[in-house]
Parts: sequence; C-alpha cells; structure tokens
Amino acid sequence: RVKEATHNDFRFFTTEMQAHSARTLQLANALRHALSRNELYLLYQPQISMDGHVIGVEALLRWQHPQLGLISPAEFIPVAEDSGQIIQIGEWVMRTAAKQLKAWMDSGLPPMMVAVNLSAAQFRQSNLVELVTSILDETQLPPKLLEIELTEAVAMDDPQAAIAVMDKLHENNIKMSIDDFGTGYSSLNYLKRFKVYKLKIDQSFIRDIPQDAEDKAIVTAIINMASSLGMHTIAEGVETADQLAFLRLQGCSEVQGYYFSKPIPPEQITQFVRNSNRSLAQ
Ligand code: C2E
Ligand code: MG
Ligand code: MG
Ligand code: MG
Repeated sequence: RVKEATHNDFRFFTTEMQAHSARTLQLANALRHALSRNELYLLYQPQISMDGHVIGVEALLRWQHPQLGLISPAEFIPVAEDSGQIIQIGEWVMRTAAKQLKAWMDSGLPPMMVAVNLSAAQFRQSNLVELVTSILDETQLPPKLLEIELTEAVAMDDPQAAIAVMDKLHENNIKMSIDDFGTGYSSLNYLKRFKVYKLKIDQSFIRDIPQDAEDKAIVTAIINMASSLGMHTIAEGVETADQLAFLRLQGCSEVQGYYFSKPIPPEQITQFVRNSNRSLAQ
C-alpha cells in the first residue's frame, strides 16, 4: 500500500514536471522573438518621498505575447536567465529606461531617478560596468540619475563580486540599491562593505503593518540600521494610509506601492508627476 502510494506520487510528479518543462520550452522559444517583434515593454512605478515628491520611477518589464497573452516577469525572467536571453533583454531594459528618463526631462519634467532591476546573469557579466557607462554616454543621461537594483539574494550569493561591482559603479557615480531586502540572509559584515545607496524593504514585511508587531519591529530595525550606515530606505508594496503613517513615523525615506500608483505606461507618468507637484504646491 505504501509502495503503491509512492509509485503514484512519482507518476504525478513527473507529469507535473513535464508540463512545467513544456511551458518553459515554449516560453524560451517565444522569447527569442520577443524583442524583435516588439512584444516587450516597460511600465514605470513612481517612488515617492515622505514630502510627496516623485523622486524616481522603477522600470518593470512586461511581455505581451500575441497568443500566450500577458506573461508575468516572475514567470519569464527565470526562463530568460536559464536560456541566457536575459543579457540581451536586460541591456534593452536599461537603454529603454535611460532614454525614457532623458525624454521626460527634455520635455520639462523635473529631474528624477530611474531604477532598473539587474538579474543574476547580468550581475556576473564581466563587462557590466562598461555596458552601463556606454548606455549612459549614448543616451546622455547623467549617471547619478540611474539606479541599479540587485536583489539581496544575488548580492549575498557572491559578496566579493558584489563589492567589486558596487565599487566600480560607485566610481562612475551610478547608484546601487538592494532589492527585496530582508529575504536574502544578509551578512552584516558584507553589508557594511557594500557601496549601497538604498535598501528596498521587501513587501512581505510591509503587507501586515500595522497589525503584525514582529513585522513592525523588523521594519523599524532595518530603517534604523540603514540610516546609521548612511543608506536610504524605501518600502515596497505600500497599499494603505496606515502603512504610510507607520513608515513616516519610523523615518523611512521613500515609499512605493499601489497606495500611490501601480506600474503605469510612460505617458501616464508625465501626468502623475505634474499632478503630484500641483497638489504639493497648493
Ligand atoms: P521587484 O523588483 O521587487 O518589483 C516589485 C514588484 O512588486 C513588481 O511586480 C510590482 O508591480 C509589485 N508591486 C508594486 N507595488 C505593489 C503593491 O503595493 N502591492 C503588491 N502586491 N505588489 C506591488 P512585477 O512588476 O510583477 O515584477 C516582479 C519581479 O520581476 C520584480 O520584483 C523583479 O524581480 C522582476 N523584474 C521585473 N522587471 C524586471 C527587469 O526588467 N529585469 C529583471 N532582471 N527583473 C525584473
Ligand atoms: Mg525591483
Ligand atoms: Mg522587490
Ligand atoms: Mg522581487
């Protein structure tokens, strides 16, 4: 009886695995044409300072496939990582985001930052810093307006490499922030050696504020530690006025989340920035 159950579990498992790899293969194949067929695009999510200014936007990648529909980055980024396509896609993301910010500023929007997410494979690229600086040259975007987000998990997977990359980016006036902070087992010994501009507090710690006392304690500790180390903090996934009030009280520098705006197309960012500046002026 035990044996039979094991046997069935095993068959179920392999069927699941086959379905999974069929989808993965389908996505990997379709992804090869995604850039040339203009199926990829960027949305931008505003990042807001505690006095209500839009201080920057995070570029978030989307893939609209004609048959498969809208595919989440959580699903296709790992596929692009495994197939190596993330290198080309990541370069496109950075160039597109840099061009977009330059265009916003040329059209009269006040200077702000643009943040792009860096994948593990891009982080390991030996010519990463050269690539970033050449994109900045080409787009004429001032380096200090570009922010590169690396997840805590990727940074801590190879901290020596992370230190080297951060040092080089810092020499070139490019900012680096640690994404999903709190989920990746940071060694504080390394964290103090990282040239990090900002810690992005993972949204899993924000979700249950103000009910969850432990999450509140963790968030407070992160904000205080970052501030002592001279780093900014931004809370991800802010959805309510109560969460905002708590974060403001604790001295969190910036916030990002549906409470202010979902990720939106570039045309809507223009409107969002103008509206928020107008409401501040009143
Ligand atoms: P992330 O960089 O941590 O981005 C934050 C995610 O939280 C985004 O999901 C965003 O839409 C979502 N979010 C923002 N505010 C809220 C909120 O108030 N509530 C909730 N529930 N969610 C919120 P998205 O756009 O689906 O991206 C998921 C992940 O995919 C990103 O997490 C990032 O790791 C990855 N990703 C997205 N674009 C890129 C890219 O261009 N390159 C790379 N390498 N990864 C990317
Ligand atoms: Mg991010
Ligand atoms: Mg995050
Ligand atoms: Mg994430």
